[in-house]
Amino acid sequence: MAECPICGKLNVPSKSVGTKDVNEYDCHVCGDYSISRQSSINLKSLTAVDKAKISAFTRERSLEKKPRITIVSNREIAQVSAEPAISADEIISLFPRTVSERLERALKNLYLNSSGIPGHLDYINQNDDYPILFAESREAYNFILMALVDAEWIECKNTPVGISSVTISVHGWNKLAEMESRRIGKNSEQAFVAMWFNTNLNDSYSHGFKKAIEVCGYEVVRVDVKEHNEKIDDRIISEIRKSRFLVADFTGHRGGVYFEAGFALGLGLPVIWTCRQDHKDDLHFDTRQFNHILWEDSSDLFERLRRRIEATIF
Ligand SMILES: [Zn+2]
Repeated sequence: MAECPICGKLNVPSKSVGTKDVNEYDCHVCGDYSISRQSSINLKSLTAVDKAKISAFTRERSLEKKPRITIVSNREIAQVSAEPAISADEIISLFPRTVSERLERALKNLYLNSSGIPGHLDYINQNDDYPILFAESREAYNFILMALVDAEWIECKNTPVGISSVTISVHGWNKLAEMESRRIGKNSEQAFVAMWFNTNLNDSYSHGFKKAIEVCGYEVVRVDVKEHNEKIDDRIISEIRKSRFLVADFTGHRGGVYFEAGFALGLGLPVIWTCRQDHKDDLHFDTRQFNHILWEDSSDLFERLRRRIEATIF
């Protein structure tokens, strides 16, 4: 039993993993996860808001029954053998950007946390279940819960002790079905790489992008503008539509890459942002906010991209 390094709950079941400097926690707030000792120390200096974002990430993974993830420090990300692994900074950067995305994922989490029986009353508790709603504070928790009621996706009764009974409504069940049906590429085994076609990047493509994606079990597609001069946009659009996710590399800052990343985002596809270290200062203002994998060479790129795919694409 130990204190959860993310949410601070006491008496959380915990054990060390082998001889490595990693501990497993099964927290009823944050879900099941592992964390390196260095990363636990680093978490102490994070704000409550950032810690709540990490709890939301690990709790959602547990609800979705994804494999246990190991949180590591930025420096450890290329070194540890634990898989999948992700840094706290990367987790924070993956937090939903819009309230509407939070609402949809909160509804899905409420469903996964429930008995799954239509009409059944399930209970959530403000102190323990705020990560389910992607809430960083008590106010955010109440806001998200009320917004779900206003959208008529759930019916909810609050008690004075912070416990709420929740029932997913008919509208809510319809919303869940609609969300599932529009998950484009959910069964696709293809990944699209948007990047600069420059001979200087051939090695990075073969031994970095392509290798990392293939090791993770996906087929790689990239469309060379020169090869397909006619109807290039049609081919690009149809291949992106068929993909599970898109890797956008901004080395060289080609307009096409910004277009392809934007198109994938609009479709709701996961986008992994990358850029070679020496080109990062030219990143466009609009996309600089995204957490880019800043890579040095092919082997660095391979390792970090592989880890990012394992941690975030399912
Ligand atoms: Zn916790």
